[in-house]
Amino acid sequence: MAKDGWDREVDLLVAGAGPGGMTAGLVAALEGLDVLICEKSEQVGGTGATSAGTLWIPNNTQSRDAGYSDNADDAAAYLDALIVDGGADARRTTFLADGPRVIDDLVARTELSFLACGPHPDYRSNLPGAAIAGRAIIPEVFDGRLLDRDFVRIRPPINEFMLLGGMMVAKNDVVRLLGRWQNVGNFTHTVRLVLRYFIDRLKYARGTRLVMGNALIGRLFYSLKQNSVPIHFGAALDDLLMSEGRIAGAMLKTKDGILRVRTRRGVVLATGGFAHNQAMRETYMPVPVPLHSMAVAENTGDGLAAGKRVGAALDPPTDRHGGLWTPVSRVPRNDGTQGLYPHIILDRAKPGLIAVNAEGRRFVNEAVSYHDFVEGMFLAHKSSPSIPCQLICDAQFIRKYGLGSIHPGTTDLTKFVRNGYIRTAPTLQALASAINTDAQVLTETIVRHNNFAVEGSDPDFGKGDTDLNRFNGDPDCRPNPCLGPIETQPFVALEIWPAELACSTGLATDADARVLDKESTPIPGLYACGNDMDSIMAGTYPGPGTTLGPALVFAHRAAMHAAKQ
Ligand SMILES: Cc1cc2nc3c(=O)[nH]c(=O)nc-3n(C[C@H](O)[C@H](O)[C@H](O)COP(=O)(O)OP(=O)(O)OC[C@H]3O[C@@H](n4cnc5c(N)ncnc54)[C@H](O)[C@@H]3O)c2cc1C
Repeated sequence: MAKDGWDREVDLLVAGAGPGGMTAGLVAALEGLDVLICEKSEQVGGTGATSAGTLWIPNNTQSRDAGYSDNADDAAAYLDALIVDGGADARRTTFLADGPRVIDDLVARTELSFLACGPHPDYRSNLPGAAIAGRAIIPEVFDGRLLDRDFVRIRPPINEFMLLGGMMVAKNDVVRLLGRWQNVGNFTHTVRLVLRYFIDRLKYARGTRLVMGNALIGRLFYSLKQNSVPIHFGAALDDLLMSEGRIAGAMLKTKDGILRVRTRRGVVLATGGFAHNQAMRETYMPVPVPLHSMAVAENTGDGLAAGKRVGAALDPPTDRHGGLWTPVSRVPRNDGTQGLYPHIILDRAKPGLIAVNAEGRRFVNEAVSYHDFVEGMFLAHKSSPSIPCQLICDAQFIRKYGLGSIHPGTTDLTKFVRNGYIRTAPTLQALASAINTDAQVLTETIVRHNNFAVEGSDPDFGKGDTDLNRFNGDPDCRPNPCLGPIETQPFVALEIWPAELACSTGLATDADARVLDKESTPIPGLYACGNDMDSIMAGTYPGPGTTLGPALVFAHRAAMHAAKQ
């Protein structure tokens, strides 16, 4: 509708079609609002499409139905113990109280469907109130063929997460693929996956059996289509427009020029945070500012900058948390580009691997969560260069467990040595020289660690001490599932850098995701969710699904609030 200089008028404009924005748009449409989602890229999903798709929702229905017990009080005690310097935050109480209900509502009214993860320890599993199982849920596998031609609109996962050039596999699939010769069930599952994949490739550019973040996005997109919610692709939120003290609309940058959208209920900012905005990285992230990000390139802080221009509070935390971290290795790809492999669960906790800094010394429990590992890098770096660090193991370890983008079962490492992904050497002295560290220190570190492996305990850093450590270790390795010797040549080193999975600093909001100004007063008509909203976890990472859980819950709350206005 063109009126008074506006090009279009809607109830609610949602900026960004990641999990946050898609959920907000979907719920608002279900509540009867006239919604427009604008998306900067040509695909839906954002970083969410490339994610593992896990949601941390304490006391969720799916886990209770699967036989796991939990309650909001335990989860609150856990967060209180974890977030020591984050201060009270009413949004956390709301999140714990409302999370299960939001997920149930989405499951009841949309194509979203979740399964209990079962055992999946909280990331500080030794703190009071921590759970070992039942707080994480994952999206059910989605059949991308339901989207027909629009399948191409789903952003694919990172290359390093696909097999055979386009087949998605979830954690459970990996276990069954690796054990394909062990029993008939695994073998049949493997044959089915591969057959389906090759049939898919006759029609589609990649496999259509979507798992993890792609399943979440596929289900959200399918639901949006079923509810005829329009997505304007190639339209980036450029600025917010105010009138009489409230948000009146927004300007979108499109390939055809600027589009002015008037909004009756407001605007939801869901542009994914500031990952690729160097000035914001330097303001909100720790020093040395991480060089790498796992977020999609479009996330340049547009929502935060626009919010700030209309008076939203975006204050650098005093301790510059800024990110929810993962260690990454740099993967040289065949086409000359560089991928990033996030070392989330598969290798660090396994027996027979340590991390060393530039001095050749261990500095962290290698089996802690990916976030805590990187926090360990930052902390150690203050006294001794630990960014980058090196993962050290032997070729036998890789054959058994894999290392980063090198799959388990790999015996010939030549390709990975040639392209520079890893360094190998026949002796520890030679390896030390290859990674430019002191040979005597590195040798002492490894001899000491190997003694710990025999004793089954790591008095230096406690590798294998917590439920989380052991969950990601090797249950067949005794006495400690996370400790094993590094002793068979060739020895291997892999360089590791910090990166963020998600930004944690964002716009201040209340428990309805309304954006607050510097006096903590809501800016009428302005909402933020996903990584545009300041993380309710104050820079901590309580468990699997720490960003997507709150992203969906507060997107839902923003939409419901807008609908009630
Ligand atoms: C490998 C990996 C695994 C992960 N696994 C998990 C997990 O299991 N659980 C979990 O909780 N988190 C996980 N994360 C983090 C999670 O993916 C993100 O925190 C989440 O996707 C954030 O959602 P969002 O909607 O805020 O942003 P995004 O998913 O990044 O979406 C933002 C969207 O906004 C668009 N956009 C940007 N600027 C504009 C603009 N100006 N106008 C319009 N559109 C714009 C982008 O193109 C994008 O589509 C993982 C991340 C990675 C990389």
